[in-house]
Amino acid sequence: MKRRTYIVGAASIGLSIPIVGESGRERKDGHIRNRNKNENEMQAIRNGRAASTDPEPAYTLLDGTKYETEVYVIDAPESGPTGVVIGGMHGDERSGYHAAAAVSRWQFDAGRVVVLPQANQPAIKAKTRHGVGGDLNRKFPPGDEPTTTLAQAIWNDVVLRSEPDFLLDLHRSKGIYRFHDSFVGQAIYPTDVGDAPSNAVDTIASLNADVVPWYMPYHDFKRGNVMHGTSPLLAHKAGGDLQVPAYIVETTTFLTDLDTRTRWTKRAAEKLLSLHGINRATETERNK
Ligand SMILES: [Zn+2]
Repeated sequence: MKRRTYIVGAASIGLSIPIVGESGRERKDGHIRNRNKNENEMQAIRNGRAASTDPEPAYTLLDGTKYETEVYVIDAPESGPTGVVIGGMHGDERSGYHAAAAVSRWQFDAGRVVVLPQANQPAIKAKTRHGVGGDLNRKFPPGDEPTTTLAQAIWNDVVLRSEPDFLLDLHRSKGIYRFHDSFVGQAIYPTDVGDAPSNAVDTIASLNADVVPWYMPYHDFKRGNVMHGTSPLLAHKAGGDLQVPAYIVETTTFLTDLDTRTRWTKRAAEKLLSLHGINRATETERNK
């Protein structure tokens, strides 16, 4: 299909489709997935802990520079694998870094989760895709040193330092796959390592069954191309250099609001973490 504008694309799938907001919280089976905030807080109080505690960062990356940004490390009670979760590589992809920030507040049953929610502070502050020196997610050549100060810090002081068993990189896209030729739509891109491709398929199936509303079939997630460590993207490099499963998660702006994109991205992260043996500790944490 030829490239189409948003309006033509919208018409082709029916302009009556509403923007997904609160109504999108209803599952296909009719159950309300999300509890309201008060109920969560009451449950938290019954469980004997604070309702909302912002975590302390474990350390600051590039402290004292324009790039400085916080890194969070969540150690679960039981030993297990280590996952690295990155958000905010592109400064205008808010759902990615809101979702990563949520992950930094989660608790898990086993393993360790290292979270860099806002990788590209100059870009986030400027609300632009690129920050300093162009596209940060093109500065990670496989088999070579990353090519900017920030990319080197992310690679050496977050990824290598964590000795990860897998990595998630949370982004947001535009358009709908195949309706808008230049956009990737909703997709999860796995590396070619281990179970990453099948984990991507399982996560997509879960999202499409439980999260994407039935009236938005064109928003079903797809599995993106397998990454072979051949491009200078962080996830490519993790797969190529470290031979670990890595994933890029893309959630579209097309007919969605920020809250919906963030929620879908969080669910993708939660499922991928779970498939790697890192399960969230309690149901009451789900909405945070
Ligand atoms: Zn991106």
